[in-house]
Amino acid sequence: MSYLFRDQSSVTLHEHLDSNSLIILPVGTTEEHGPHLPVDTDARIAEAYGQRLAEALAPQIPVLLMDTIRYGYSMKIMQQWPGTVVVRTRVLMDYVFDVCRSVLDMGFTKLAILDCHGHHRGLLSTVSRELCDACDKAVAILSPARLSQEAYDAARKSKQGGSIHGGEWETSLLLHISPEAVDMTKASDEDMMRYHSEFVAGDGFQGRQQVSWSTWYIQPSKSGIYGDPTVASAETGKLVMDAAVQNGARFLKEYWDRKQKTESAAQS
Ligand SMILES: [Zn+2]
Repeated sequence: MSYLFRDQSSVTLHEHLDSNSLIILPVGTTEEHGPHLPVDTDARIAEAYGQRLAEALAPQIPVLLMDTIRYGYSMKIMQQWPGTVVVRTRVLMDYVFDVCRSVLDMGFTKLAILDCHGHHRGLLSTVSRELCDACDKAVAILSPARLSQEAYDAARKSKQGGSIHGGEWETSLLLHISPEAVDMTKASDEDMMRYHSEFVAGDGFQGRQQVSWSTWYIQPSKSGIYGDPTVASAETGKLVMDAAVQNGARFLKEYWDRKQKTESAAQS
């Protein structure tokens, strides 16, 4: 039985509504990722993460995986390299809101958005609050970067500043999920983030990212990346994906088990 939303008919969706299947919506983007990675790196990670999460959850709870949203918002400064498609913040927020609202209006009550692109964090968080106001249902947001942070920090080979954009974290993940799309002969560490301070670790190294300050304005990038992809490996990528899936699936089981405010009110 397929767990893809797009494969369902209105009849099988009725069955999924009866079992209150968890809906997973991966959100990535398409933007330049340096000379060694494909421009759809974030969308690929989002799609793979969604598939692995759905596979991990399917034996435990009913689940439906939606198609990945592949275009999103990136800052204009990234358009200095070809490959960056920019959807305006408000357009993206409205679009994600409408996709989610449609699913919640269908009657589903558990919806998880996979946030797989740094520039979307605040936008998706605001959308989830707007959905609470509009539908009285709480949408969950998961980030594979944050859910794998501990495992990655223990395994990484790059120094602080090696993983912001197109660096060791993303390159390792791509070597794990899409090795054919990576050209390691073009990977270079010339754009390591070299600025670090008490407040700015550069890449959340060991949780040290206390303030928000756009990397793109701290240090210019020659190649379009920030970090060190030369030390990336498929092994590290697998370890990161496994940690993100394991932690994400544990959370989503908890999220699905927990009755929503409106569900318990309806039952009492
Ligand atoms: Zn990326």
